[in-house]
Amino acid sequence: MKADIFLGETKVVFCETFFSFFEDLLKLSEPIVFITDHNVKELIGSSIQRLLQEKKRSVFLISIPPGEASKSREIKEWIENELFSIRFPKDGSIIALGGGVVCDMAGFVASTYMRGVSFYSIPTTLLAMVDASIGGKTGINTSFGKNLLGSMYPARQVWICPQFLESLPKREWLNGLSEIMKIGFTLDPELLSLATKKMDQIVIFRSCLAKKQVVDEDYQDRGKRRILQFGHTIGHALEKISSYQLSHGEAVAKGMAIEGFLSYTLGYLSKNKWDSMREILKSCGFSFQVDPKISFSQIQESLEMDKKGTDQRGRFVLLQDFGVVVPFQGEYCTHVDDKVLCKAWEWLKSCPI
Ligand code: ADP
Ligand code: ZN
Repeated sequence: MKADIFLGETKVVFCETFFSFFEDLLKLSEPIVFITDHNVKELIGSSIQRLLQEKKRSVFLISIPPGEASKSREIKEWIENELFSIRFPKDGSIIALGGGVVCDMAGFVASTYMRGVSFYSIPTTLLAMVDASIGGKTGINTSFGKNLLGSMYPARQVWICPQFLESLPKREWLNGLSEIMKIGFTLDPELLSLATKKMDQIVIFRSCLAKKQVVDEDYQDRGKRRILQFGHTIGHALEKISSYQLSHGEAVAKGMAIEGFLSYTLGYLSKNKWDSMREILKSCGFSFQVDPKISFSQIQESLEMDKKGTDQRGRFVLLQDFGVVVPFQGEYCTHVDDKVLCKAWEWLKSCPI
């Protein structure tokens, strides 16, 4: 399958092998800088660099340590200094090559370097293919929370090539699956069964297509796009509290369980659907267990910096049915009474697995 979709200004190209888009890379303006991490450099980056150099292209590779801790101001500064040291010009091309960490960081660097240089993306994790590389959000973390500094800077082109997933560890599959389940619960319920049966290019394509629908309608994230934050209010809080030891996908799965509990307890979601939601999440391999030492007040404190929040209180995306989010007068999220939220948290803490 080779197909293209446009997501805002971004051309998203789906291709089976690297060689079906190599020609596209040859057309980019030089020099080309790949921003990647040490693992992806070894697995993929160095070979791509060599192939392009064989075609006489000027190519550099900037590699950062893998992991969420690299989404920091310090690493951003280090990358910028590397770009200055090679005298990287405004008309060069920056390509993110890696997972969500690399895509978020490289996009942010590209958006501020000389007030913006051409940016492209080659996601190499499932999560980055279905979420981080498309939609234009870039960002880094601070000690106050996740993705609190960043910009909207869509890649000109994104090449999605599942061939790169062959080396992906299981934990990283789960990370991506969590975002696909999120899209299933909120936008495209057929994905819930498709993705649990067989993870293939169709599932990736369909997830991107569903994301496109909301991003095209609300690029600036002021309403409908918040649907994509299902599970993320508590998810981001848990990631931060765990100092990013908990992966994004695991944290979002627990966050979806909390929002499922809230949707059911507040009378929006039927008991059947709530039961089925827990079953689906468990069958994917997600655990609802949380560190028993985390107190409710720690959660509340982390929610103060929720980007959807108002009055320093987080807001939650709730379900009415699979594929239907409660619209809340176009806000697509709502405050929840502290007592109800505390009950949801206690429920999660009591889950045996
Ligand atoms: P995510 O995409 O989930 O946000 P990261 O960008 O942190 O996550 O990538 C997760 C981990 O997977 C990192 O250690 C990264 O080096 C590694 N990784 C990325 N792509 C691949 C791949 N195709 N094969 C194996 N490991 C990969
Ligand atoms: Zn996410």
